[in-house]
Amino acid sequence: MNTETIKFFKQELMGRMDQLLFQTEQAITEFMAQPPQEIENIDRASSNADQAFKLRIWNRENKLIKKVKEALKRLEDGSYGICELCEEEISLKRLEARPVTTKCIKCKQKEEQLEQLTK
Ligand SMILES: [Zn+2]
Repeated sequence: MNTETIKFFKQELMGRMDQLLFQTEQAITEFMAQPPQEIENIDRASSNADQAFKLRIWNRENKLIKKVKEALKRLEDGSYGICELCEEEISLKRLEARPVTTKCIKCKQKEEQLEQLTK
């Protein structure tokens, strides 16, 4: 992978990171901005569901942020774009579509087949 390509993916990943951090921050701000009396007035069930929903978003975004961070680290140490299972290069097309991926399409498909079998 040449420096231009690395630069491209770095920008791509940084952009995603910014977006994720912004979204998470917004979700948290919204959550915190709820006045206490309002929370008391909503019946407990719906309030809990709301909270669970936000926690889910939060968790999902945290996981994504972690993936983006790991991808950036791989860009730094030069292992970016190499499949973690078979150690072959992941196609640029695949990386462009999914910059945080750590597996080549062949390994990913194999993994999905296995998941289907174990379901
Ligand atoms: Zn592979």
